[in-house]
Amino acid sequence: MTAAGRGAYLDFNGSTPVDPQVRAAFLRALDGALGNASAAHADGLAARAAIDAARRSIAHGLGADEGEIWFTSGGTESNNWAVLESVAAQPGPAHLVVSSIEHKSVLQSARRAQERGAAVTFLDPRPDGRVDLADLERALRPNTRLVALMLANNETGLLQPVAEAAALCRSRGVRLLCDAVAAIGKIPVDVRTLGCDFLSISAHKLYAPKGVGVLYIRAGVHLPPLILGCGQQCGMRGGTENTAGVVALGVAFERLAQGAFDPARTARRCAWLWDAIREICPSACLNGAGARLPNTLSVAFPGYDATALQAALAERGVSVSAGAAASNGALSHVLSAMRAPEELARGTLRFSLGAGLEDADLELAVRVLADCLRRSTTRAPAPVAVP
Ligand code: PMP
Repeated sequence: MTAAGRGAYLDFNGSTPVDPQVRAAFLRALDGALGNASAAHADGLAARAAIDAARRSIAHGLGADEGEIWFTSGGTESNNWAVLESVAAQPGPAHLVVSSIEHKSVLQSARRAQERGAAVTFLDPRPDGRVDLADLERALRPNTRLVALMLANNETGLLQPVAEAAALCRSRGVRLLCDAVAAIGKIPVDVRTLGCDFLSISAHKLYAPKGVGVLYIRAGVHLPPLILGCGQQCGMRGGTENTAGVVALGVAFERLAQGAFDPARTARRCAWLWDAIREICPSACLNGAGARLPNTLSVAFPGYDATALQAALAERGVSVSAGAAASNGALSHVLSAMRAPEELARGTLRFSLGAGLEDADLELAVRVLADCLRRSTTRAPAPVAVP
């Protein structure tokens, strides 16, 4: 069901609906925790206690210690912070290695660091969409400060070898940032298993409100603050804490631990959807290969224009993403880095599923998709046989 009450919402990698129990906790905190968490009166202390409780549940969910969890305004800020301040953390010429399929919040931060004098290697994945460890090893230099490698790509859903990359980085004294924004809630995310130094997440990908995130910073790792203010969060991140948002994220982690978002059910629905898509469009293919998020289908419809298809689906209440072929006509940076043929990149739609979807939503989406494909006028002409 979409927010408008009709159609089907299949864009959970874009943002998730807010879980009812998360919403209730958010509203309670909005009304109840009115104090500034830095204030030393009862209302301030109540807000502080609510934030501390949330930090505990988030730390527990990520396998981290409480003192390693820092609240931010979302995944973008967490990534900006880790990239920009890793460069600033020590004097001297810095080098960064950033996979070229990272989210723009990582890529643009790396470009900013480059403008400020850092050297940056943008590392392309192999055509299957996975970054190769041998390529990463070759890219490391004696002055490499940070490697950025996401756990799962938000467009394709393809998983990256983060634990192996982190082990390599550790052996070279290099820090690793893992953007786990797309992965959280869909596959296990445990900072100790991954062995990363920094990890970013965002509440609105985990059935909690937009505008809250976390940067995990491994204990003992020095990272100067990005946002300066009145010493909140031990001076690590200035700005009055978003108490209700933080409380909501804490409850989202509790719900995750209870299995409330049922990834196995989503995986079954995703498999059903892929079978149904292939039935209505046998030429459709998945971008990349190998392990991927169980909720994500990045489907290329060869010869179709994904932007037009997405608009046609949206008109009929079916929300999917055509981020792969951005509105300005530029190809997806992820599919380009994978060297996907242009025809496939232009025809790519992302279907991302999650909790709360019903069979009827998917059946409706498939019916509408079949109709949109049939009516599509943007289909590239079939190749003309040359006599
Ligand atoms: N990283 C990834 C992989 C994402 O998908 C997103 C959100 N699109 C972000 C970072 C940014 O998170 P936020 O929307 O909370 O700023």
